[in-house]
Amino acid sequence: MPPVPKTPTHSKVIVVGSGPAGHTAAVYLARANLKPVMFEGMMANGFAPGGQLTTTTDVENYPGFPEGIMGGEMMDKFREQSVRFGTEIHTETIAKIDLTSQPIKLWREGEEDNEEPTDTANSVIIATGASAKRMHLPGEETYWQAGISACAVCDGAVPIFRNKALAVVGGGDSAAEEAIYLTKYASHVSVLVRRDKLRASKVMAQRLLNHPKVTVLFNTVPLECKGDGKLLQSLVLQDTVTKEIRTQEFNGLFYAIGHVPATALFKGQLNLDEDGYIKTIPGSTETNIPGVFAAGDVQDKKYRQAVTSAGTGCMAAIDSERWLEEHFPDQH
Ligand code: FAD
Ligand code: NDP
Repeated sequence: MPPVPKTPTHSKVIVVGSGPAGHTAAVYLARANLKPVMFEGMMANGFAPGGQLTTTTDVENYPGFPEGIMGGEMMDKFREQSVRFGTEIHTETIAKIDLTSQPIKLWREGEEDNEEPTDTANSVIIATGASAKRMHLPGEETYWQAGISACAVCDGAVPIFRNKALAVVGGGDSAAEEAIYLTKYASHVSVLVRRDKLRASKVMAQRLLNHPKVTVLFNTVPLECKGDGKLLQSLVLQDTVTKEIRTQEFNGLFYAIGHVPATALFKGQLNLDEDGYIKTIPGSTETNIPGVFAAGDVQDKKYRQAVTSAGTGCMAAIDSERWLEEHFPDQH
């Protein structure tokens, strides 16, 4: 039997997602007296409320925290600020959405089979984020964030990587960018490419191949991560052509094998690019559906930082506020 519907609730604007983008949008909307409702998710897309930063330790590149701050603590502060200005937060996941109706209909997890949802809104801000692809190698769980990372810009500067041999897996633009970035800290960077060619754009590939501190190991994949139980120390590598296996010392392994934006919910309704990211009108957070705005990693495959997510969260709130003012002036 489907669950008994809760009392139907209409909001001017609902925020789906609770990372830096969602909370920044909520703070701006709440301060504009729009009484935003946020669905922060219940382990949605594999993340606790607060998003990707809840899975990391020190965040050292978010302005305003000169000593750095733990990712989880930072997201607790974001949440506190949203609540302080009146955001109503539900620790639930949105499981189904009809963006084509006005008001927009949103079904919470467990309610998907009900004909009508509990929640409707005139405007929706999508801030559901993304997740880095991982390889789930033996040893990966043990050394995750103890030598293994999926974000060089976030983690590259930490002391465990200084003057050490580091590896980047992947052959795309991200791998090239991350490897070159890591040369600032590493003694040497090896890029593990599974085929005999790079996928990266010509200019990035040339930059990578010409860099004195980078070696590109073609036809190479990592098979296992090894260490002393606390920190990563080496990788078991395989040549994909000869199948030969060897072990090489590395103190860092960075995944750059792509990201997956959390957009399954919106397929067929929103315009997505070839990698599944929500397409927004350049210079704004507008999607192809009026009143629906997207912010953060779900619409950004280039920068993917907390501060850029917060920036687009602010933009989405302002875009939504102006849209509501224009289309629902009586309620404003
Ligand atoms: P996310 O942080 O991805 O959050 C999205 C949230 O929405 C999640 O909580 C998810 O559960 C929720 N959600 C998804 N679907 C639904 C749904 N259907 N209903 C309800 N909720 C939903 N960036 C930096 O700037 N500095 C760093 O030091 C840094 N370190 C990082 C370390 C790690 C290990 C990782 C993985 C990332 C790091 N980043 C860092 C990148 C940064 O975390 C992201 O750029 C940022 O969190 C993206 O924010 P977001 O708001 O777009 O979404
Ligand atoms: P891509 O999908 O372009 O590249 C992923 C790379 O990882 C490919 O080389 C792929 O190999 C490899 N790979 C995937 N899975 C595995 C695996 N299991 N084992 C080993 N290798 C694997 O992702 P990116 O994140 O690099 O780029 C995404 C998009 O963002 C692209 O459009 C890119 O151009 C863009 N971007 C642009 C930047 C810029 O302009 N400065 C910076 C970063 C990204 P294979 O080639 O064999 O499939």
